[in-house]
Amino acid sequence: MNDIPHASGALPPLDIERVRADFPLLARTVHGKPLIYLDNANTSQKPLSVIEAVDRFYRRSNANVARAMHALGDEATSAYEATRDKLARFINAASRDEIVFTSGTTQAINLVAYSHALPRLQPGDTILVTQMEHHANIVPWQLVCERSGATLKVAPITHSGELIVERFVELLTPEVRLAAVTHVSNVLGTVNPVATLARECRRRGIPLLVDGSQAAPHLPIDVRALGCDFYALTGHKLFAPTGTGLLWARRGHLDAMPPFFGGGEMIREVRFEGTSFADPPHKFEAGTPNIAGFVGFGAALDYIDSIGLDRMAAREHELLAHALEAMRKVPGLRIIGEARDRVPVIAFLVDGVHAHDLATLLDHEGVAVRSGHHCAHPLMQYYGVPATLRASLAFYNTHAEIDAFIAAIGRARKLLA
Ligand code: PLP
Repeated sequence: MNDIPHASGALPPLDIERVRADFPLLARTVHGKPLIYLDNANTSQKPLSVIEAVDRFYRRSNANVARAMHALGDEATSAYEATRDKLARFINAASRDEIVFTSGTTQAINLVAYSHALPRLQPGDTILVTQMEHHANIVPWQLVCERSGATLKVAPITHSGELIVERFVELLTPEVRLAAVTHVSNVLGTVNPVATLARECRRRGIPLLVDGSQAAPHLPIDVRALGCDFYALTGHKLFAPTGTGLLWARRGHLDAMPPFFGGGEMIREVRFEGTSFADPPHKFEAGTPNIAGFVGFGAALDYIDSIGLDRMAAREHELLAHALEAMRKVPGLRIIGEARDRVPVIAFLVDGVHAHDLATLLDHEGVAVRSGHHCAHPLMQYYGVPATLRASLAFYNTHAEIDAFIAAIGRARKLLA
């Protein structure tokens, strides 16, 4: 599922009922029906250990970080900073100082756009993105292009939803200042060959930013093996609280980047004549952060460790195969994107039925899927559709849930026909 080899774990198969019991929300009903949550690419549900870590923090350790000279301040700072170590291990960063805490992928990409790219961009320069990007990996680049006179260019994809790597490489011309690519498409589920793209970028001295929002919940991430320059991810898709995320960047980039937000926590000394800044990552972390959220993020990483990413991926692989097989049998159902290397994120349409109408009927059956443009207007334009439905699975979903979802589509089609 990735172009980076990784060891396969020797853990026994998951006891799925026990796993589901870790996620209290999965036990609820919606419109009187058992919830079938297939909107995991939007945000994942949270295990009890994460909910309890946040609760415990506010009950026992709440204090501000890095500035309080008392026991609570120490406890809060240790719990918060421990997540930086866990994240460094999670993505195999060379150092914890390369982990900049952000509110999510969007903030991480904007930080690179304004702090790394904008000061370097000149009229005539370009930034290369792909046809399958989320708006978070398009709009920040457009904004800095507008300010600098640079332009955006777009690497094409095939109809089956795969990046055309040769075209991407051809587009890496000398005026490209940065390439920005999603690791995994939030619509098509496609896994892009990031290590290959990074190698080609490196040969030409072009920094590569990878949007890892949809990859981190499914694939082992090793930023050093991938060979990219920047990696952004979001905690809330990774079983952690909302408002958490990270930017990883090579230390050299972080040293060279000026601060983006100014304020407390990011300085060494402030005088009215001028201010000197803290070393990375703190120079990018102005103000009081989402402390409890990052404590919860640490608990989410512990939870993932306890399950094992390999076991999660193996289970998701099975669920994906089951879902694709069942969906392909539904008359009039069209899957958008058939990449060979993919995660369990499946965009689809049903002939003659509006995506929102079908999503509403599915909701009445307790099935939560997303319908819309998925913050990927250019991808919708490429496929010539205004919207699609999207079923996105997590390791805690079941075969029975997929079967119930397919049966609900059948009933909804009859109603809407
Ligand atoms: N990039 C991709 C591929 C995404 O799927 C998302 C969220 O849906 C984002 C970026 C933005 O993430 P966030 O809203 O957490 O910043």
